[in-house]
Amino acid sequence: MSTFSDLGLNAALLKSLQAEGYTSPTPIQVQAIPGVLAGRDLLGIAQTGTGKTAAFALPILHRLAANPRPALRGGARALALSPTRELAVQIAQSFKTYGRNLNLTVALMYGGVPFRPQARALSRGVDVLVATPGRLMQHLDEGNVVLSGTEILVLDEADHMLDMGFVRAIRQIASKLSMKRQSLFFSATMPKEIGALAADMLRDPLKVSVASASNTADRVMQSVIHVEPRRKQSILVELFTNPAMRRTVVFTRTKRGADKVARHLEAAGVKVAAIHGNKSQGQREAALGDFRNGRIRGLVATDIAARGIDIDDVTHVVNFDMPEVPEAYVHRIGRTARAGAEGIAISLCGNDERALLRGIERLTRQSIPSEDRRTEMAYDEASVDASRSDDRQDRAGKKFNAPRGKRGGWSARAKRGQHHHSAAMAR
Ligand code: AMP
Repeated sequence: MSTFSDLGLNAALLKSLQAEGYTSPTPIQVQAIPGVLAGRDLLGIAQTGTGKTAAFALPILHRLAANPRPALRGGARALALSPTRELAVQIAQSFKTYGRNLNLTVALMYGGVPFRPQARALSRGVDVLVATPGRLMQHLDEGNVVLSGTEILVLDEADHMLDMGFVRAIRQIASKLSMKRQSLFFSATMPKEIGALAADMLRDPLKVSVASASNTADRVMQSVIHVEPRRKQSILVELFTNPAMRRTVVFTRTKRGADKVARHLEAAGVKVAAIHGNKSQGQREAALGDFRNGRIRGLVATDIAARGIDIDDVTHVVNFDMPEVPEAYVHRIGRTARAGAEGIAISLCGNDERALLRGIERLTRQSIPSEDRRTEMAYDEASVDASRSDDRQDRAGKKFNAPRGKRGGWSARAKRGQHHHSAAMAR
């Protein structure tokens, strides 16, 4: 097994890693760090939870420290782009934590907060700038930022950049950097447009892939509860009667949905907070803080707001609404089971969401154990629907033997009250 010193990192970095309690590098760190130290471009297929932030922050800090020189006025020697402010804050924090025994400066730029202090922080130049693309573009337009001297560019969560409409901004930003720069590119998935962006941005990249999006789900115990949409609220409250749900992220499709679910849980005496794009930065930070230190048991979030939430020890993820795109399912459940822990993901699936569930099962190449909590009336239709999944393979490679064409053949009553992780479909 390799150690951080085997990877070639300097003593100051090793010291802060030790202080952080990191005993050994994660697979992506083992694969990426030596190449990045040697100056190579990198294409990393990895999602949060794999240790990817350290995989780029450590070798960048090493290289900057090995070759100290002042940044240009308004410039940054290394630039990391993040799709969301939450992730940007975490990346900057990682640079500061790992770099605390080095004499390097780190600055942050993201939207929703005043402009001036950010421009001022950069006026003398910094070693590392972490920014969201929209706000960085504004600063570039204002002439507050100069990127011609930037030596290293990191693009984190590139697929989320695409979802958020940042690809054009990224191309513009990249065009302002010198061609001689080193570029590091991270994405959990590789949709076509992101593959094209990577091809344009990278020169002969080292390719590193850890736990592809379709199998990172392996450490998460997953289940589906089929339920009428109108009963989702009460089932959710019922789920929260389980004291093991200490730190739960509940996902909704819309901001209004998040507020509604949060209100309903609060009314039922479950302490939660909603986070989404309509909340102020202060509200979001307060909610994250309360969640982190256990003052509240749940965060109700939209996909975008939840991105990059870096909270270890999320015990459960609940999909109150099934995600519209199957990749989002993998991102959502990746909020739990981080840094080696086990996690539980429960999805509430309405009849109208069954096609979405099938898409998720196809992408992740698994059949998610399900429980039927619908009332008898709706049940008949469901068994017809469920029997279509005959012959699919489950994760262990077993075949499903759903009763073929036996309408209503499974007793809904018998299934009620079963353990949530029972594989109703697998019998
Ligand atoms: P990331 O994938 O960058 O979001 O990192 C996920 C979590 O793993 C973060 O909380 C890091 O602090 C933690 N982490 C990263 N590298 C290591 C390591 N080598 N040993 C232990 N924890 C780590």
